[in-house]
Amino acid sequence: MNPSHSPRAGAGFTAPAKKQLGQHFLADAHYVEKIVLAVNPRPGDRLVEIGPGQGAITFPLLRRHPQLTVIEFDRDLIAPLTAAAAPLGELTIVHRDVLQVDFTELAGGSPIRLVGNLPYNISSPILFHALEHAAAISDMTFMLQKEVVDRMAAGPGSKVYGRLSVMLQAWCQVTSLFVVPPGAFRPPPKVDSAVVRLVPRDPATVGIADPQHFAHLVKAAFGQRRKTLRNALNGIVDEAGFAATGVRSDARAEQLEVADFIALANATATTA
Ligand code: SAM
Repeated sequence: MNPSHSPRAGAGFTAPAKKQLGQHFLADAHYVEKIVLAVNPRPGDRLVEIGPGQGAITFPLLRRHPQLTVIEFDRDLIAPLTAAAAPLGELTIVHRDVLQVDFTELAGGSPIRLVGNLPYNISSPILFHALEHAAAISDMTFMLQKEVVDRMAAGPGSKVYGRLSVMLQAWCQVTSLFVVPPGAFRPPPKVDSAVVRLVPRDPATVGIADPQHFAHLVKAAFGQRRKTLRNALNGIVDEAGFAATGVRSDARAEQLEVADFIALANATATTA
């Protein structure tokens, strides 16, 4: 949409953007509102925002929900965030690299809802980090590059179906919500962005016997995606493993359903 039709997002302050921290600040109130509506904070929710930046999403959330925890790595943003949040509600700032934050410890037994316009340079590591703590997270509403969201939500047969699709869809329900154009940010990124919702599944219903083995198998299968599974999974799945699951050893990874990967992993897990 033409940004001139939308008011600027109500950031409480401005700061120069740091490229190395993936800083593209959301500056279009229309999309801020869409994100806040998608999050739809409810009383009692424990909201945690990754990368609040200048507060484009933080302050509108805090107006609707009086308590919020944010995780921000840029020390220059801590004092202005604290000052701008003071009249609005209770903002707890965790000044750390999000990849070092133990979400399970942060949740402390009461699941958290994650929100964030993620730093795009580390969006996949953040997703894998969150997966490790999925039991402590009730849902995630994230903005990332649209290309990454497409990969997250892709199914078998799609050119962009891969390791990220299988790992996320095995552990979470993945729903792509809407696209956000570059003009909605200052400075604008080079690519379209999209907002996605992830809802972790109950691990008991996922039925993966050994999560590490599953992750290893999926990585190997897509590491050589042009090879047949017989070759790509050499040393991990033997002919008996293929026979036990009914998965064809001459198929390629991109043809398999998520359930096929789970079956192959469970048939070959030593802890199964
Ligand atoms: N939420 C703001 C918005 O929508 O305008 C800022 C989003 S900006 C794309 C990403 C934010 O993540 C920045 O504030 C950046 O400083 C922060 N960030 C970058 N790397 C980080 C890390 N490793 N841990 C925590 N925050 C990080």
